[in-house]
Amino acid sequence: MAIRNIRLIGDSILEKKARPVDEMNPRIKTLIEDMLDTMYDAQGVGLAAPQVGVLKRVVVIDVSPEGDSPIVLINPEIIETGGEQTDFEGCLSVPGKTGEVTRPNYVKVKAYNENMEEFIVEGEELLARALCHEIDHLNGELYVNKVIGDLQLVNVEDFEEEV
Ligand code: ZN
Repeated sequence: MAIRNIRLIGDSILEKKARPVDEMNPRIKTLIEDMLDTMYDAQGVGLAAPQVGVLKRVVVIDVSPEGDSPIVLINPEIIETGGEQTDFEGCLSVPGKTGEVTRPNYVKVKAYNENMEEFIVEGEELLARALCHEIDHLNGELYVNKVIGDLQLVNVEDFEEEV
């Protein structure tokens, strides 16, 4: 287990499409453990593998207030969306900034877990936002290109969740 360096905006790896994981192996297992450590260390609610410099379709998310409910998603795909939400969003790869983004209020995602077993996760509000944001990372897309108006500096008093 180790904390990995988070790549920042401007790093071209964040603009590349990540490749699917074909099979579980020790390297991917270590990557998942390191991504969880890195996400919790940075107090983020989500992290995608390209953010630690690995172009694989692996995402970790934990939107629970206690930070004890990690979700690991391999090769995630959005299969259904519903509604709409507009709120401020942040990203561990864009430190100190926030911006308003419109996302679906509900998403249904198909993915594989650490044992490469298929599962479905449904999310609303913050979880739906985190799922969309992380899957965008796998496609080389950053939220800054979806912001309504301008990026703003984060006010320390109203800390935003970063994903
Ligand atoms: Zn992000």
